[in-house]
Amino acid sequence: MALVAIVGRPNVGKSTLFNRLTEERRAIVDDQPGVTRDRLFGTVEWTGREFDLVDTGGLVPRSAERFDAAIREQVMLTIEEADVILFVVDTLTGISDLDAEVAAQLRRAKQPVIVVANKADNTARKLEASEFWGLGFEQMFALSAINGTGTGDFLDAVVAALPDEPDSTLEDDAPRIAFLGRPNVGKSSLANKLLGRTRSIVTEVAGTTRDAVDARLDYKGRELVLVDTAGLRKKARIKENVEFYSTLRTERALQSCDVAVVLIDGERGLESQDARVLREAESLKKGMVIVINKWDLVEDKETNTARDLEASIKERLGLLDFVPVVFASALTGQRAEKVLDIALEVFAERQKRIPTAQLNDALEAATRRTPPPSHRGNYVKIKYASQVRAEPPVFAFFCNAPEGIKESYRRYLENRLRAAFGFVGVPLTLTFKRK
Ligand code: GDP
Ligand code: GDP
Repeated sequence: MALVAIVGRPNVGKSTLFNRLTEERRAIVDDQPGVTRDRLFGTVEWTGREFDLVDTGGLVPRSAERFDAAIREQVMLTIEEADVILFVVDTLTGISDLDAEVAAQLRRAKQPVIVVANKADNTARKLEASEFWGLGFEQMFALSAINGTGTGDFLDAVVAALPDEPDSTLEDDAPRIAFLGRPNVGKSSLANKLLGRTRSIVTEVAGTTRDAVDARLDYKGRELVLVDTAGLRKKARIKENVEFYSTLRTERALQSCDVAVVLIDGERGLESQDARVLREAESLKKGMVIVINKWDLVEDKETNTARDLEASIKERLGLLDFVPVVFASALTGQRAEKVLDIALEVFAERQKRIPTAQLNDALEAATRRTPPPSHRGNYVKIKYASQVRAEPPVFAFFCNAPEGIKESYRRYLENRLRAAFGFVGVPLTLTFKRK
């Protein structure tokens, strides 16, 4: 999907604009899994076209001492990655020095740049916005991110500026697997190892030049896609802001994959960033696999190191104990294929549909064993359940008092579902409805 990036100095209203543009869709999908998370990346739909939107301002550390330098990097990376750039400025302050600097940098961009003169809440300010033509770009829209005026025409222009959609014949059912993790954890080594061992075609997707380059491979007679191998390789060029780049790439790969394979450095153990990516994969309801990589470097494998490390990682993961863990070495190739085998297993689990009769047998057994605790003195009864969708799986439980179901009981039911039906590596959504 095309990527549209919002850039600009602090306080011009980037995040307000981001929220405005992603809001409508959020309202539609909030009911569905995977939308409650940090609002830096989102999907926007306008007149039938969809695009990814990133608020790059959120990726500049708030504590940055030299934020002008941070913004320069932000803009540089945006030029590398985005298909359309939204350059936000502030009609209340007019053109600032920093705006002029950003403009100079953006004029070198090959992709369309649209100036957004924000905070044009009324007609007077809208007129004042004409000074921003002076920044030297072909398109400028005066709008108000806060009250929404002017956003319709502006969105029409954004959609018109998007690159053509890639050939839709490439959209297929092949499992999409993404390798994620911190820089240097071994993602490209693992991808290359697997690509070297299998028949593979790296496809440049026409139209979306800056979009991900996916590798299609024939694995044990089955076609699958490794998401964004370009992102894995390209990073050598990016020296300055590796973190920003990897966050952006990770996010996009996550959005477009079916199964997220998160690599963790076996020598370093689980780090906070790893946990963040895992949480994000979970909130997007992607299939999940954890790879403890560089296992060749972990000493003393004869003893219980592996088990201890796995136990300590699982303990830190807490509720993510449904995620399978593979100990591997991208360098030696040890268990490299096992990673794909398990990813494919998770992919299949995520597609699974449980027949209603079986589901209700399991529900009955679970509620007989431990009935829902009463709520404000009232008896809570779950009458029946059904799997309302797959990929990702969502289960609806119909009860007399849905508000009486506590998180602990939800978790109990989830565990019972897993015990009965597996769903290894698959985040489950349980919803409770009144009936
Ligand atoms: P960012 O730092 O560029 O992401 O800016 P924010 O989105 O955090 O907005 C900075 C300030 O400008 C906040 O106080 C917003 O409420 C305000 N703001 C954003 N958009 C508008 C707008 O369209 N009109 C007005 N009047 N204020 C706005
Ligand atoms: P990426 O940034 O996650 O794509 O990481 P790379 O694949 O570029 O690997 C970073 C460095 O770690 C390289 O020097 C690799 O050779 C090394 N590396 C990757 N996987 C392993 C592994 O399993 N064992 C060892 N010893 N080194 C590895």
